Amino acid sequence: MPEGPEIHRAADKVRKALQHKEIEDIEITLPQYTSWKKKLLGKKVNKVEAQGKALLIYFDDIVVYSHNQLYGRWTVNLKKTAPRKWNRSLRISYSTDKHTCRLWSATDILFLEKWELSGHPYLAKLGPDIVNPETTIGEMMNHLNKDKFKRRRLKTLLLDQGFFSGVGNYLRSEILFTASLHPDRTVGSLTEEEKNALVEQTLFLARQSYEIPGITVDLELYQKLRDKGESRSWSRHWVFTRNERPCHQCGDLILHTRPGGRRLDYCPSCQH
Ligand SMILES: [Zn+2]
Repeated sequence: MPEGPEIHRAADKVRKALQHKEIEDIEITLPQYTSWKKKLLGKKVNKVEAQGKALLIYFDDIVVYSHNQLYGRWTVNLKKTAPRKWNRSLRISYSTDKHTCRLWSATDILFLEKWELSGHPYLAKLGPDIVNPETTIGEMMNHLNKDKFKRRRLKTLLLDQGFFSGVGNYLRSEILFTASLHPDRTVGSLTEEEKNALVEQTLFLARQSYEIPGITVDLELYQKLRDKGESRSWSRHWVFTRNERPCHQCGDLILHTRPGGRRLDYCPSCQH
């Protein structure tokens, strides 16, 4: 599933193609929304933004909300390029004079009047966005210190979008490793120093994997591993998907667990 860094990169591509442009052609295949076509045709896109794992396209009075879940994907092409043929179903396509942006296979799409946005259940409960450059360490610390999170274990809490929005499976494993925290720890058991490490590592890893797609290890280490002939997929993470392989820091074997049915890998020696 795409996580915060991936959805922010998708938003950047869509923004480049649509923002401040007029929609010259629009296709909506969702039967409940086909009547919105005429409301959007010829309208200008004011803003495109990612919030957590959702993407929002703002028109004057209307906002189109989409959450990609497991299978949703955005593609951006020149208008004259034929759409890709693959096993995904087209949901919406927006064309400007130059580009066509297509949303495929997403299951969670809503056309909202602007005033409805603040009441949207997913957006209303989102915690601070980990990729947004305006999110600060102070804001993350205040949020983390809220009473409601005290008894929650990090392994489940980190996937809760109401905590830090944008964290998914790979970031969860990687943040816990670089912050040296065992997945079973509760927020209430963390020292100030550990809380700081958790927040700083979350922002650091989210931004690194936004700027350098999919790489969460230290970049020098990544280069060293690649130079030694390791594949990209074995080199790019500290622990995620590296179970049964030696930890880059201590050499012990990385362990694999599946809390809530979702992959979490960690080092039993480096994480306390
Ligand atoms: Zn280790």
